[in-house]
Amino acid sequence: MKQKKVPLRKCVASQEMMPKKELIRVVRTPDGEVMIDLTGKKSGRGAYICGKLECFKLAQKNKALDRALKCQVSPEIYAQLARDFASVEEEFLAAKDSEDNE
Ligand SMILES: [Zn+2]
Repeated sequence: MKQKKVPLRKCVASQEMMPKKELIRVVRTPDGEVMIDLTGKKSGRGAYICGKLECFKLAQKNKALDRALKCQVSPEIYAQLARDFASVEEEFLAAKDSEDNE
């Protein structure tokens, strides 16, 4: 039987290697807009963070996102992302749970 390889990505905040589906992708679009990409399909430079608000806060504190996206992420964007993260986290965890139950 062929073993399926789980694609791993590194969380920019905690530096942990995690299966891609357990991470939230933040993307800098070609227009320079920074946003959360739940589909994982938006074009642009991406960075991954664990689907945990605390990891996002850590990224904010040590500017891990700025470094990963190679651009300055303004406080407004962090504030926006924090709000998005809080709302997305629930959705994200719910989606993960339903996947696990399959
Ligand atoms: Zn993390």
